[in-house]
Amino acid sequence: MLSSNEYEEEFPVLKRKINGHRLVYLDNAATSLRPKQVMEAVTEYSLNHHANVHRSTHTLASEATEMFESSRQKIAKFINAQEEEVIFTKGTTESLNLLAYSLAISKIVKPNEEILITTMEHHSNFVPWQQIGKIFNIKIKYFPLRKGIFELDEYLKYINLKTKIISITGISNVTGQVIPINMIVEKARKIRKDIIIIVDGAQYVPHISVNVKSLDIDFLAFSGHKMLGPTGIGILYGKKEYLERMSPFLYGGEMIDKVSMEDTTFTILPYKFEAGTPNVEGSIGLAKAVDFLQQIGMNNIAQHDNELTQYALEKMKKLDFLEIYGPKNNLQSSIISFNVKGIHPHDVAHLLNEIAGVAIRSGHHCAQPMMTELGVRSTCRVSFYIYNQNEDIDILIEGLKKVWEWLK
Ligand code: PMP
Repeated sequence: MLSSNEYEEEFPVLKRKINGHRLVYLDNAATSLRPKQVMEAVTEYSLNHHANVHRSTHTLASEATEMFESSRQKIAKFINAQEEEVIFTKGTTESLNLLAYSLAISKIVKPNEEILITTMEHHSNFVPWQQIGKIFNIKIKYFPLRKGIFELDEYLKYINLKTKIISITGISNVTGQVIPINMIVEKARKIRKDIIIIVDGAQYVPHISVNVKSLDIDFLAFSGHKMLGPTGIGILYGKKEYLERMSPFLYGGEMIDKVSMEDTTFTILPYKFEAGTPNVEGSIGLAKAVDFLQQIGMNNIAQHDNELTQYALEKMKKLDFLEIYGPKNNLQSSIISFNVKGIHPHDVAHLLNEIAGVAIRSGHHCAQPMMTELGVRSTCRVSFYIYNQNEDIDILIEGLKKVWEWLK
């Protein structure tokens, strides 16, 4: 890990004063901050190499194509995938929509089969399945959590011979609970060998090293902006054998083989799923973000996240005016959701920003079914990343005490 000073150099926004206080950024589950290195790579491309990719043959076009494809290569290596299995999208949301729609129209999941999701999912891993279920008459099974806690043994009881797809988050974006994906894969494949396992990696990939091959998952979706990269760029990883069988989600330039009045044939992977001009600078920024994370080391990042989460939990549990949601133990990483008793979360978030310069999120976190299970309409959420330190937690705790004193 870098020192606080080194992080301040790399992330200039950390030097900003918010209402006279040093910025304490604890909203990383919404989006992470951006290091200079990432933005410099984006600027360098934009100012000196920009052209469309895979089209023209001039120097700039060749350079842009080279940079775009080497970004893909780096990201593929990061998750141990083959390059043709890595599709650039706008983000996790687009990746999961692409999957749901394409698996349904390709009849890889059929009307008498089931898709299993959970009630902790972000809307982007919930609504696409719910909607294709309605359109294509596929049964969607919802695994309910208990008081916002995922229990593996209970979950496994929901998998049966009719379950064709499991789509589940790797880390809850509400409680930070880390889901034992490896155990789910192992058990699920024993029940049904050809089960399709999809992991929403939006919160997982930035915090835990993922190797898609050893994990043996079929699809993984994630977003650049939650892992130090730009917005508007994301990834869908898919096993080649499925991607080849799947119909494209978007039609247009670059994804075709031959077009005639009668019909169209589609090109090879991964371009079949990348219609239109892609987000080239986004891909370059994401590859640079991957470099940055790898320099720090994904295992160091996971350890840092865990230590910070445990430190914060320990301190927050001592504040008896807080209600904390989720497992509240070492199965939870990088996120803590809570409420200050009797006070609206928006008021808490607003005051923390005003009196302490602490940036947190309040709301339903795009997970309304999870809010229903917790019996609340919204929560406060703090979320950590590499540049956060124990001192940030101390400032949060002092801020919360003040909020309680003022509003109780
Ligand atoms: N799933 C999870 C678990 C998330 O945390 C998020 C982002 N908050 C998403 C999906 C959606 O990601 P995006 O908005 O980048 O598409």
